[in-house]
Amino acid sequence: MSRTKRGPEVSGSPVDGSTVNGGISFWYAKDGVPAPREPLPGDATADVCVVGGGYTGLWTAYYLKKAAPFLNITVLEAKFCGYGASGRNGGWLYNGVAGRDRYARLHGHDQAVRLQRAMNDTVDEVVRAADEERIDADIHQGGVLEVAHTPAQLARLQAFHSVEIAFGETDRVLRGARETAERIRVTGAVGSTWTPHGARLHPAKLVTGLAAAVEALGVTIHESTPVTEIRPKHAVTPYGTVRAPYVLRCTEGFTAALKGSRRTWLPMNSSMIVTEPLSDEVWATIGWEGRETLGDMAHAYMYAQRTADGRIALGGRGHPYRYGSRTDNDGRTQPATVEALREILVRFFPTTAGVHVDHAWSGVLGVPRDWCATVTLDRTTGLGWAGGYVGSGVATANLAARTLRDLVQQDSGQAGATELTTLPWVNHKVRAWEPEPFRWLGVHGMYAAYRTADRRESTARSAATDRIARVADRLSGR
Ligand SMILES: Cc1cc2nc3c(=O)[nH]c(=O)nc-3n(C[C@H](O)[C@H](O)[C@H](O)COP(=O)(O)OP(=O)(O)OC[C@H]3O[C@@H](n4cnc5c(N)ncnc54)[C@H](O)[C@@H]3O)c2cc1C
Repeated sequence: MSRTKRGPEVSGSPVDGSTVNGGISFWYAKDGVPAPREPLPGDATADVCVVGGGYTGLWTAYYLKKAAPFLNITVLEAKFCGYGASGRNGGWLYNGVAGRDRYARLHGHDQAVRLQRAMNDTVDEVVRAADEERIDADIHQGGVLEVAHTPAQLARLQAFHSVEIAFGETDRVLRGARETAERIRVTGAVGSTWTPHGARLHPAKLVTGLAAAVEALGVTIHESTPVTEIRPKHAVTPYGTVRAPYVLRCTEGFTAALKGSRRTWLPMNSSMIVTEPLSDEVWATIGWEGRETLGDMAHAYMYAQRTADGRIALGGRGHPYRYGSRTDNDGRTQPATVEALREILVRFFPTTAGVHVDHAWSGVLGVPRDWCATVTLDRTTGLGWAGGYVGSGVATANLAARTLRDLVQQDSGQAGATELTTLPWVNHKVRAWEPEPFRWLGVHGMYAAYRTADRRESTARSAATDRIARVADRLSGR
């Protein structure tokens, strides 16, 4: 089905008179959000019901339908496919997976290496599948570059580099200040680490292209259809109930709004800004020809990409969490956060001081109590879920989706166990978050501690990680 756009309705409100604030995200600013699909017309049945139309839900529907075309699959989406983090993220398609080191402690190093290898392959799989489906998502496989600014950050960077190599990433490269500057001129960078297992992409182009591909395969997608309750074999909405042997919850940062899930995954906020397209003169001062995704080793870290149309999109934590696990209002962002992100931009690249910030937005990602991403299918109830990617969901959602496919196929007798169904993150159990006000106090306290630690490290000569950050890591269970 060819789908028309409704661009004019993407209109956040201005921050400083001309920076658009919210409007879901900048990634929809040019073409608008997709025209809505029909809501659920009434009670229905399916073989598999997927709740949530982000990368997790859509990739799950995609791979299941490809593997078993006879399956009747329905996706229920509260707003529109790509409304959540999948249409708002920083576009880092990379091989990081939250919780790997804990999985190594729980299941052994070799099992965690299997998970890491699967993640390395996942970056290529997303690129391959997007290509096969002719989704033009501005993908550029330039790898991931992470820089250090202070002695403590450099020590962490070197330790991180060694750990990644120990997990099999032997193609990772460590660079000194001069070599780093040959790739990108970040003020004060004293070193960097680079991995080829990463790509920059346009998040909304990927998610809207994927939704169209899923629909073309014969999956039914209903939008503007919020699921109010998930229970075994039922997904309940205001318009009717979908009955299905398998109901898969793919709602990541929004999970807390579902009945009985308030303390399951914490909706952590992340915020972004994007500049106007930079002039050739400004780009000449920055370099960044390789278009690597860019991050740093601060405790309250930043992430950035050079977009296909020559802008810098840069994100960070901002206001980390809303009381009571509430989510944001269509991406609206506090002016103080916009200013803080702008300060990082100018600190990194002083020649952007006069550059206009065109758009600012926010979104939520899902954080489990032990900060470990998971994929689960409960074989007694047919309920499944995947998420808790802690900000590393662009690639991870794809691996999670292929794993959900294999778990459903195994459970229904269509296939046996696979390499994916035995990965250490499958069926991992985690305790719930604390009730309020402890949840709010804990998260805000942790980020206040990280910001203090970053400030103290910026003036310290020592290579040791600041004591405050070490305590915050221990208390938060990271
Ligand atoms: C600002 C930001 C930047 C990020 N940057 C990166 C990055 O650069 N790289 C990276 O790897 N990760 C990044 N992430 C994380 C990553 O985007 C997410 O982990 C990933 O997109 C999660 O995909 P998902 O499909 O599980 O969830 P989502 O994309 O959030 O999709 C969930 C969907 O479920 C729908 N929904 C919610 N509740 C219901 C309900 N009750 N009924 C029906 N539908 C419902 C929502 O409307 C939404 O469309 C970022 C996240 C944010 C917010």
